[in-house]
Amino acid sequence: MRAILIAGNWKMNGSLATNAGLLDGIRSGAASVKAELAVCAPAPYLAQAQSALAGSAVAWGAQDLSVHESGAYTGEVSAAMLSDFGCSYVIVGHSERRSYHGESDLLVAQKAARAQSAGLVPIVCVGETLEEREQSQTDAVVTRQLTAVLDLPGIQLDRLVVAYEPVWAIGTGKTATPEMAQQVHELIRATIAQRDASAAAKVRILYGGSMKPDNAKELLAKPDIDGGLIGGASLKAADFLAIAQSA
Ligand code: PEP
Repeated sequence: MRAILIAGNWKMNGSLATNAGLLDGIRSGAASVKAELAVCAPAPYLAQAQSALAGSAVAWGAQDLSVHESGAYTGEVSAAMLSDFGCSYVIVGHSERRSYHGESDLLVAQKAARAQSAGLVPIVCVGETLEEREQSQTDAVVTRQLTAVLDLPGIQLDRLVVAYEPVWAIGTGKTATPEMAQQVHELIRATIAQRDASAAAKVRILYGGSMKPDNAKELLAKPDIDGGLIGGASLKAADFLAIAQSA
């Protein structure tokens, strides 16, 4: 049985003052939620997340990491640094990084492996654009993005979280129907199972793309939807907790 995971992706939002209220609200509400919770904060605020959430049931993580271990990579943040601040998770391959920062499938896979080598669980994002969906390319795109990770030597399949995030649903208010999402989640699990059936049974596959309190229940009721990666709605403690409560 996979525990539901509700992870917030704050993106480039927040300040010390607003984060304090948000973290406090999430920490206080976490006791009323059965699902596992995590918040992925901007790197400068990881120390704040650590001090606000330490000792609670809420995990924290980052939104990206360097593919390099250490050294002369100005501006980069290493996996070891994220571990130093108590991160459990790190998002890799978010569509905003793939499209605005040119991250390739291979780079995303290498980042996932780098995260695992420091004891972090990568949340690997995959998903098609609207154009790709309209051209019936969804399965091919998701399989290609996922396979790059699954086939990277050294990757530990049972220590991955995968997030299916159709690009056209991110931040747009448009959501995949539960049936559309389930179909892709099933494909993701079957693709992992071709390599390792026991890992496939364990891996949590999150849905992301305008998940909100009013649509979360139906999505989370699907057998292969094991949680959510929540953008906009993770910036309000009440909405984030309401999504988790609907699990
Ligand atoms: C995301 O950015 O990962 C995301 C799912 O955003 P939103 O919930 O705002 O669509």
